[in-house]
Amino acid sequence: MSATRRARELLHAADSVVVLTGAGISADSGVPTFRGVEGLWKQYRPEELATPEAFARDPRLVWEWYGWRRERVTACEPNEAHVALARWARERPGVTIVTQNVDGLHARAATLVEAETDRTAPAEDQPLGPARPLELHGSLFRVRCTECGDRREHRDRVDASSPDALPRCAACGALVRPDVVWFGEALERAVLERAFAAAEAAGVCLVVGTSAIVHPAAGIPAATRRAGGRIVEVNPEPTPLSGAAAVSIRERAAVAVPSILAAG
Ligand code: NAD
Ligand code: ZN
Repeated sequence: MSATRRARELLHAADSVVVLTGAGISADSGVPTFRGVEGLWKQYRPEELATPEAFARDPRLVWEWYGWRRERVTACEPNEAHVALARWARERPGVTIVTQNVDGLHARAATLVEAETDRTAPAEDQPLGPARPLELHGSLFRVRCTECGDRREHRDRVDASSPDALPRCAACGALVRPDVVWFGEALERAVLERAFAAAEAAGVCLVVGTSAIVHPAAGIPAATRRAGGRIVEVNPEPTPLSGAAAVSIRERAAVAVPSILAAG
């Protein structure tokens, strides 16, 4: 039996499914992964910029990089994999989408499919509908105040030409930072708990476009497996997870995902 057919059968038989995605799903939209050369910005590596220390030292530089990333992502569109997952999550009960990505493309795909069926599409910052992802690492399009913790959507163009021009908190006026989880920071507990609860309840964990080496996200497929569920992997390359997967589909996300989610 083909891997695609086997994946379809496993997904069909599962009462609930947790989907874990990483940078690879957005590679097909043209968003660079960190590991490729395209992931570099100027001479910096992400590990030198995506840290609380880097922001404390030079918030202007860090905001300049995030402004660049926002613009890159804004110029991209959700691909067939994002859209197929969003549609599937709306049509089929028991699907939880969990992403390590900060690019907002799952949320944009949710908006697209919600518009197919709803007269008024909800805004992207509305409470989770079934196609809305749990964003483990936050979002490029949210900011958090460094003083009062106020959090909100922020899609404006970032002016990082001088420290004085940087975005400020709408509540208290202090400097805001991107609401993403940086190297060395903890993930938001409530989001993580929901993701692990979904993983433990799931008959299948569908893992798309992640090398699954960065914890705690990497523990999500393991949690499904420990609870007796199966792992289905979509990745053109073998990963540390491949040995534990019931099925590995060596194909790009935009090709493989719509195909395994198709009925029949
Ligand atoms: P990673 O190494 O987990 O992601 C790359 C994985 O995707 C690799 O296993 C690769 O084989 C696979 N891949 C590449 N092209 C693919 C395709 N077309 N279809 C399916 N799979 C494909 O992640 P990373 O890029 O090193 O990033 C590390 C962290 O930074 C993660 O949290 C990641 O999500 C985040 N990040 C997010 C974005 C984003 O939001 N789009 C971009 C870069 C990094
Ligand atoms: Zn504030």
